[in-house]
Amino acid sequence: MRRTVFNEDHEAFRQTIRDFIAAEVVPYYPEWAEQGYVPREFYKKLGELGVFGIEVPEEYGGAGETSFKFNAVITEECARAGVGFGGSSVHTALCLPYILKYGNEEQKKRWLPDFVSGELMTAIAMTEPGTGSDLAGMKTTAKLSEDGTHYVLNGAKTFITGGVQADRVIVCARTAPPTPEDRRGGISLLVVDTRSEGYAVGRKLDKLGLRASDTAELSFTDVKVPVADLLGEEGKAFSYLGQNLPQERLGIALGAYAMSAAAVNFAYEYVKERTVFGKEVASFQNTKFVLADCRADVDAMQAVVDRALEALDAGELTPADAASAKLFTTELAAKVIDKCLQLHGGYGYMLEYPIANLYADTRVSRIYGGTSEVMRSIVAKSMGL
Ligand SMILES: Cc1cc2nc3c(=O)[nH]c(=O)nc-3n(C[C@H](O)[C@H](O)[C@H](O)COP(=O)(O)OP(=O)(O)OC[C@H]3O[C@@H](n4cnc5c(N)ncnc54)[C@H](O)[C@@H]3O)c2cc1C
Repeated sequence: MRRTVFNEDHEAFRQTIRDFIAAEVVPYYPEWAEQGYVPREFYKKLGELGVFGIEVPEEYGGAGETSFKFNAVITEECARAGVGFGGSSVHTALCLPYILKYGNEEQKKRWLPDFVSGELMTAIAMTEPGTGSDLAGMKTTAKLSEDGTHYVLNGAKTFITGGVQADRVIVCARTAPPTPEDRRGGISLLVVDTRSEGYAVGRKLDKLGLRASDTAELSFTDVKVPVADLLGEEGKAFSYLGQNLPQERLGIALGAYAMSAAAVNFAYEYVKERTVFGKEVASFQNTKFVLADCRADVDAMQAVVDRALEALDAGELTPADAASAKLFTTELAAKVIDKCLQLHGGYGYMLEYPIANLYADTRVSRIYGGTSEVMRSIVAKSMGL
């Protein structure tokens, strides 16, 4: 089906990203996946290319775009080539909206120019070893010092994308205890300098997929965080998270759609080449039917993410819409990519084939950004259930 969400500018940008991926990512990606992170220099290249500044206003060195569609193009092109840009989608798609919406002028001037160039990489730390889905249960605390100049941060976070290499991490912490009436109150966002005393990066976690993206454990022991690094108002983080999660979830839905479309392409190429019993695998009726089913599923996913993209750009994407899009696409992607892997036979299980990486990479999309069970709870609640 002809897509209507992208204009000429998006398509020109797509070509730039496609060429960049072919020259600067594909040749090195196996090495990055092996070591578990992308080199720091690569982030600077993304900065030079303008990837980090797309949605940053011009006065801070960005391009001043307000549409999320350029981010969508990057997601699609990475999936198409079977690669990723490390933790950089967290930097632009997750962290940036918090700085833009809740940062004050002084903070934006201080952080955004280096954010755009890739000198300052960011990550966001919500999840803790003891709590993920139930964020209100977080235990990390930030106590205001007696002289009111800084917070004293104590606690631990886990599964933090980009956490090994980040220069600043947006840490969710309790600045006041929960009350029986309001479990969600008292949580604040602190943009913590990772060079601070008492800030420690623990293990770089070894993952099933997304192997070129670093994922870390973090711990904080009496870390002094200047009050100037509080983002937005104290105690309001839960509502800030609620406002930004729809974009994060749409980003994951886009990835699920794009990986499914890529899987169908990889399977198509493979079945045309592979001969079994003296015939192309593509010639079996089963192969044609399976790929036709997958194509229909991908079309349905595309329709959902495209509508959600337009809604996000128009400021109309509700938390329930985003949860529904994430639930639908990520659950369906698992089935589509599995079927495409099956058509590869044993080669599909080998990591040198991109379909194997897609299979592993897509698994987490039903977990992070809120699990499928949490998405179902949000959608059901929106239905009055
Ligand atoms: C690769 C990766 C990258 C990540 N990156 C980040 C990051 O950058 N920053 C960050 O803060 N976090 C990150 N996360 C954490 C991620 O968001 C959490 O793993 C996720 O929210 C689930 O939390 P949990 O792992 O604690 O699972 P739990 O909350 O312990 O859930 C365990 C099981 O219980 C189910 N469950 C929970 N609540 C309910 C309910 N009400 N009803 C029914 N079932 C329920 C869940 O669906 C799940 O099946 C990342 C995770 C991974 C794997």
